[in-house]
Amino acid sequence: MSVHDLAAEAALLDRQLAPLSLAERLALVGSLDGRAVFTTSLGIEDQVITAAIGGHCRSIAVATLETGRLFAATLALIDETEAAYGLEIARFHPEKADVDAYAAQYGLNGFYDSVEARHACCGVRKVKPLARALEGARFWITGLRRGQSGNRADTPFAEADLDRGLIKINPLADWDIETVKAYVAEHDVPVNPLHARGYPSIGCEPCTRAIKPGEPERAGRWWWENDMKRECGLHVAEATPIAARPAEKIPTPA
Ligand code: SF4
Repeated sequence: MSVHDLAAEAALLDRQLAPLSLAERLALVGSLDGRAVFTTSLGIEDQVITAAIGGHCRSIAVATLETGRLFAATLALIDETEAAYGLEIARFHPEKADVDAYAAQYGLNGFYDSVEARHACCGVRKVKPLARALEGARFWITGLRRGQSGNRADTPFAEADLDRGLIKINPLADWDIETVKAYVAEHDVPVNPLHARGYPSIGCEPCTRAIKPGEPERAGRWWWENDMKRECGLHVAEATPIAARPAEKIPTPA
């Protein structure tokens, strides 16, 4: 499919998805030709989508990036979620050779020392495994919401991911956090206990802290970095080759 066709299909799908419920959005994507993969970080939004897939659209594959640095509570939630919905969450791990090479160059926790080192770690532990998780996929479903950060304020329901040659589907794009929490309560969805301890957004343990009252939802992610648009490279065009990034010294964590 040409770049133009991919963009046109995404634009049409975006309009079709807009008026639908979550279940209808997933059912529509699941009915289309081509493999659909939902990647979950086990965050509260992703748990809502997993619950909806379990109830309405089991043709969608579910995968997670088991980075090797996740909280124990997140690992336990993977097992609990599989049992709750009777589905498999495929685990994608980083390659040992990549992790070893990273540690040799930067140190195991070298991500605190520079933005370049942090992106390199996310590249090894997240971006490369994501590529394997999405192999053969035509649709990539995510839990992105517009309200999660200013960087995500324009999140559409469907968009062409030209780098990966697929269409990215964001079925919760227009949900606010209160709607997410209401769904969890109504459907008794299992969620990470860290949410109740001040972690609205949960990633790898060494790179996530609880937020303070009034802070943005994602303020606890890579908190030592100054760039408010910080992301892990999965959802922004910052999949720019890491080697091309300038090295930059940044404050170490308090
Ligand atoms: S979030 Fe932190 S530990 Fe996890 S892959 Fe990125 S830099 Fe590495």
